[in-house]
Amino acid sequence: MLVFILNAGSSSLKYQLMNPIIKKVFASGICERIGIDGVLKHEFGDDKELKLEIDMPTHKEAIEAVLSILTTGEGKVIDSINDIEAIGHRVAHGGESFKSSVLVTDEVITEIERLIPLAPLHNPANILGIKICQELMPGKPNVTVFDTVFHQTMPDYAYMYALPYDQYTKHAIRKYGFHGTSHYYVSNEARGMLDKKHNTRIVVCHLGNGSSVTAVLNGKSIDTSMGLTPVQGLMMGTRSGDVGAGAISYMMKQEGLDIDQITELMNKKSGILGISGKSSDLREVLANMDTDERCRLAVDMVAYNIKKYVGSYVAALDGIDALCFTGGIGENSALIREIVCTGLDGMGLVLDPIKNNKKRSDSRDIATNSSSARIFVIPTNEEYVIANDTYKVVSQS
Ligand code: ADP
Repeated sequence: MLVFILNAGSSSLKYQLMNPIIKKVFASGICERIGIDGVLKHEFGDDKELKLEIDMPTHKEAIEAVLSILTTGEGKVIDSINDIEAIGHRVAHGGESFKSSVLVTDEVITEIERLIPLAPLHNPANILGIKICQELMPGKPNVTVFDTVFHQTMPDYAYMYALPYDQYTKHAIRKYGFHGTSHYYVSNEARGMLDKKHNTRIVVCHLGNGSSVTAVLNGKSIDTSMGLTPVQGLMMGTRSGDVGAGAISYMMKQEGLDIDQITELMNKKSGILGISGKSSDLREVLANMDTDERCRLAVDMVAYNIKKYVGSYVAALDGIDALCFTGGIGENSALIREIVCTGLDGMGLVLDPIKNNKKRSDSRDIATNSSSARIFVIPTNEEYVIANDTYKVVSQS
C-alpha cells in the first residue's frame, strides 16, 4: 500500500510517500514559507535532492506542487496520483474525543474543528491539509493520526491539574501530552529489544526542538511531561517548560503583558534561546558552552530538567527496564545522554562511555553489560507510525 503522509503546519508542510508494509520510503520533503513566497525541498531515490522556488500563496498550491513533483519531471517517483492509495494526516490535538487513529468523515472534521481552542496554531492547519487532499485526490481515504492519542491511557490522577474541578468539566483543562507517535514507536521498539516481555517499564526521552518525556508501562503511556499544550515539561528550543504559575502572573503584571504576549514569550522566546541568548539550536549552544557562561547554563539546565523527569518517572513506574533517547538531541548528543545518566546507578542505569560516544545511526544499547536496566538510543520514525496506522485503519474499514 502506498501512503501519502502529510504534516501540515501554519506556514510549512512536511510530506512523505511510504509503503508501510515493507517500511520503504519513496520520497519525502518539506514546503516552507507558504503564504510568503515558497520553497520546496524534495528528497527521492538514493539521496537525491531537489530544491525549487515555487509560488505558494496558500497550502493548496503547496500540496499541488508536491503532487506534481511526485508524478512528473526529475523528482518523479510514481506515474500518477492514482497510485497513492491512502493519505495519513498528522493532527496535533485529538482532545479526549479520539482514542485511536480514525478514517476522516465530516463528523471527524467537525470534531477536530471543535478542538481548535486547545491547539489554535496546529489544528486549523491540519484541517486545511485534510480538506485540500479531499479536493485534490477525491475518493481516496484520509486517516488522522493524533499526537495526543498515545497518552489517552494516562490515569486520571496523572492527567488532572489540581484546579477547581469545573475547569475540567467546562473547558476540558487537563494534561494531554504530545509526540505520541514518537513515544509509541520508540517504546514499542524498546520492548522488542528487551528480554523481558511482561511488566515492561520504559522511560522515553524525545529530545528535539520540542521535547518530552513519557513513562510507558506495558506499552501504555501512564504519564508524560507536556500538558494541555506543548509548553509544559522540559526546557525546549524556544519553549520554557515548567515555570511556576506565580512567576507567570508576576511577569505579566511587571511587564504589562497580555495573554498573546505572554504566550509568545513562553513559547517562542524562552527555553534554550531565552537562556543562552544565542540560539534555540542545542548544537550551536554546545559549541559555545566553554566560552559563554549563558550557553553553559542553558546546557546544564536542559540536562538537569531531563534527569529530574527521568527520576520521577522511574518512581511512577516502580522501577525501570529501559531508558530510551530519541529525537535530534537524544539520538546525537552523547554529552546530554552522559549528564542525564550520571549518578543513576542506584536506579540500575549504568551508561557505558565507550558505547555512548560511538557515532552510529541505528538503534543500540549504550548501557554496560552489568547494568540491570538498559539504556537505548532509538531513532524515531513518526512517519512510519502514521503510514502504518493509515494502512491499518483503511484495511479495517
Ligand atoms: P524537531 O523537533 O524540529 O524535529 P529535531 O528532532 O531534528 O527537531 O532536533 C533538533 C535539535 O537537535 C536541535 O536542537 C539540534 O541542535 C539538535 N541536534 C542535532 N544534532 C545534534 C548533535 N550532533 N549534537 C547535539 N545536538 C544536536
